[in-house]
Amino acid sequence: GGRSNPGGFLIEQRRLEKQPAELRVRAFTEITLKPTAASGTVQASRCTDCGVPFCQNACPLQNNIPDWLALSADGDLREAWRVASATSTMPEICGRICPQDRLCEGACTLQQSGWDGVTIGSVEAWIADAAFDNGWVEPIRPLVERGQSVAVVGSGPAGLAAADRLRSDGYQVTIYDRHDRAGGLLTYGIPGFKLEKRIVQRRIDRLIEGRVQFVLNTNVGVDVSMDELRSRHDAVLLAMGVYQARTLSVPGRGPNDTVAALDFLIAQNRVDCGDAPVADAPHAAGRDVVVVGGGDTAMDCVRTAVRQGANSVVCLYRRDRDNMPGSAREVQNAEEEGVRFEWLGAPKALMSKGEAVTAVRAQRMALTEASAGGRRDIAPVPGSDFDLPADLVIEALGFEPEAFAEQLDANLGLTRWNTLQVARGGFATTLPGVFAAGDAVRGASLVVWAVRDGQDAAAEIDRYLRARTEEAAA
Ligand code: FAD
Ligand code: SF4
Repeated sequence: GGRSNPGGFLIEQRRLEKQPAELRVRAFTEITLKPTAASGTVQASRCTDCGVPFCQNACPLQNNIPDWLALSADGDLREAWRVASATSTMPEICGRICPQDRLCEGACTLQQSGWDGVTIGSVEAWIADAAFDNGWVEPIRPLVERGQSVAVVGSGPAGLAAADRLRSDGYQVTIYDRHDRAGGLLTYGIPGFKLEKRIVQRRIDRLIEGRVQFVLNTNVGVDVSMDELRSRHDAVLLAMGVYQARTLSVPGRGPNDTVAALDFLIAQNRVDCGDAPVADAPHAAGRDVVVVGGGDTAMDCVRTAVRQGANSVVCLYRRDRDNMPGSAREVQNAEEEGVRFEWLGAPKALMSKGEAVTAVRAQRMALTEASAGGRRDIAPVPGSDFDLPADLVIEALGFEPEAFAEQLDANLGLTRWNTLQVARGGFATTLPGVFAAGDAVRGASLVVWAVRDGQDAAAEIDRYLRARTEEAAA
């Protein structure tokens, strides 16, 4: 059995379970090779049951990792699923796309002591996929139906997680989204080679079967007002994410000279969802592509461009490899797939000939000495300009909140970052009965944090609605 395996890591090394790069660049399907019953068990049994669950503490959901690893090592996947699904409404999704190197796996005792950490994410996804395949995923069947209803604005991971929990508690749940498909960035942001669309659809289908209502193509604040939502429903959860893209301000940048990262990713994601390709949608085939930025979004753009058949793909980032916000694992994946990184390079101007962009002019940056206690800054190197040939320039510089108060309700309190303001330690906004969760509160963050927020916000909304029922009865 795997319950205690102090020497397991000596025998069996961690597996790098990826397709070779030359195969994976031909498709938009996931690049990870799924564990078999035998290899999954062996990987799970590498956990030494070290006694201090650093991995669990590093997981935003506080997943009970050592227990489900031990159960998987013992071959009891069904019980492992019961444990894994108790703390997470999306184990198969987080297992695939969490930056585990910075979370659970980075904290694993094996990793910390110089061995490769246990492949926690991959085992988590394996357990959950087995649960779907074997029909262990319980449908949502509330024990009691409650009359009260909750509106969830936004069908990303925060909204979906909240809806799952609220519906299971018996509330009537309606999810509004301005897109034509549910899933938020799970559907239209994150590419299929990290998370296949059918995996997201499976979660949405489960909610539909559990009688969660989806109202799509509905922009709240435009097609339906907040006042209307608040009169229709007993509580509202705002889980709208952050979508205002930051843009380059350099000489030579005209309105059609660059493509916004999300426009580029959405076009490919639509095709992956089964839509017919649109003729004038941004596409990298045959182009020399420069992606500006160093976060997750930039990594997804460069890897999408490679798969679309770009002539060349360069990632231009002003800091160095050690100071980039994206996951090191994704940088490695991109390099293996043929992406060239220009570290310490900042865009200075866009060069064009007639109407067409021909190059990004960049200048070299250098790291400065760290100020006392501060992190090292960067400064331009004089006379270091260089041109990167480009006929497709993609801006992946991050996202800011949209004008929430203007769009929804002038009385909605905002923070100085323009995210939604919530009561300390909770999810209540400044409007009675209106709660908020996910990126709209945190700013651009991670799926696992959105799931955590969605689940916790649902618990708070449940307490709020119960208290109102009791008041009404008194
Ligand atoms: P979102 O997923 O953004 O969902 C918000 C939803 O609200 C959207 O469907 C939107 O259409 C809808 N909406 C907005 N305004 C309105 C309105 N007025 N009316 C109706 N509907 C509205 N995180 C990871 O953990 N791992 C990754 O690998 C990863 N990769 C990423 C790649 C990209 C390209 C991007 C952009 C982000 C990535 N992230 C990743 C971050 C992650 O996707 C987000 O942190 C997460 O999706 C936030 O969830 P959310 O539910 O708060 O918002
Ligand atoms: Fe690790 Fe993310 Fe799963 Fe938590 S949810 S165990 S951080 S992969």
